[in-house]
Amino acid sequence: MNTNHGIPFLDLVTQHMDLEEELVTVFRRALISAAFIGGPAVEAFEHDFAKFSGTQHAVGVASGTDALRFALSAAGVEAGDVVVTVPHTFIATTEAISQAGALPEFVDIDERTYNMDPAKLGAYLENECSRDGRGRLVSRRSRRRVTAVVPVHLYGQMADMDPILELAERYNLIVVEDACQAHGAEYFSRRANAWCKAGSMGRAAAFSFYPGKNLGACGEAGAVTTNDASLAQQVRILRDHGQAKKYYHDCEGYNGRLDAIQAAILHVKLPHLAGWNEQRRQHAADYDRMLDAAATNVLRPHVAEGSRPVYHLYVIRTANRDGMIAHLRAAGIGTGIHYPIPLHLQKAYDSLGYSTGSFPVSEAAAAEIVSLPMYPHLTVEQQERVVAEIASFTGACETVQLEAPELAETGRAR
Ligand SMILES: *Cc1c(COP(=O)(O)O)cnc(C)c1O
Repeated sequence: MNTNHGIPFLDLVTQHMDLEEELVTVFRRALISAAFIGGPAVEAFEHDFAKFSGTQHAVGVASGTDALRFALSAAGVEAGDVVVTVPHTFIATTEAISQAGALPEFVDIDERTYNMDPAKLGAYLENECSRDGRGRLVSRRSRRRVTAVVPVHLYGQMADMDPILELAERYNLIVVEDACQAHGAEYFSRRANAWCKAGSMGRAAAFSFYPGKNLGACGEAGAVTTNDASLAQQVRILRDHGQAKKYYHDCEGYNGRLDAIQAAILHVKLPHLAGWNEQRRQHAADYDRMLDAAATNVLRPHVAEGSRPVYHLYVIRTANRDGMIAHLRAAGIGTGIHYPIPLHLQKAYDSLGYSTGSFPVSEAAAAEIVSLPMYPHLTVEQQERVVAEIASFTGACETVQLEAPELAETGRAR
């Protein structure tokens, strides 16, 4: 590979070139059969994805956002309820909560994993909620019933599910996993004394197959996984205009089906997912080693004990984040920020009444994180160039600090 060539943040071309013949066959078959919505392609993918995720059911839907919305509704979240999640996530998490008719409320994240901090969830339930006359859990800030919690498995690492599930049991809360970034991630559950796959631990879980995800369609797609047959059936009804049988509508539903071409594409790609995740893990180990060797003084991703992440993103942390991104951009290296503004500070959520300082761990992370190029077909040479540029940038910062000691505090990676 030409080393002067830029390094994109994401490469969505190479994996599809490798599978070009199989993918083109999918289109040809769809044209000949005219099975565009539902049918055997959707069922075949659902069957295999459930197996992959270690669940009894997977129901294909139109997007990860729909998956989360349908999972919440099917699990019993009702209009006016509060659903607890984290502010450090993509807005789809809270959009789905609102679309299910509920109100999002937040608890802060763990500063090392960037996932929901179970201690903060415990403190919220204990101190910020009370019981109403009928003994139901009610949020003090909104006076609404708290009925569900959505842990997000951010960057491909599962949230600390054991204590979250214990709290959910104690407070009678529904748990729906946002597994949109975590296809194939695993967590060692001490409760179950077993490794558990993302999407298999809550009442239900949402997956996205947006093109950039670890398993991506060539368009929009998502799925709900669950071990609950009646919940799965309710999602099938919700995704298809509330009908279990054509033109017999049990309720008002949505146009939220997984289209057959996307399902067939996902079916072709799914057998490669475990291998692609393994490549991502190898790249993460290589980044770890290279960043240490170069003594770049950036904070690397933290892997919690009993956790096997799938590195949807490889996120480092550094005080002069914007400077580093500009330096990498000038060197032709793409990066991302996931995400620059925590949800509680977004204009869209002004009405929730949070402010700066409400969730300091999320706020500090949002100001310092950078996502480096990460995809299965990334090469060691590309990674070496990325790390060399990071080292050249942090080295230059340190020189500046020596000359101007007052900058040292803010210029240092934490
Ligand atoms: C991608 C993503 C979603 C939404 O998925 P879409 O398929 O884009 O609707 C939800 N939550 C998280 C954390 C995501 O990364």
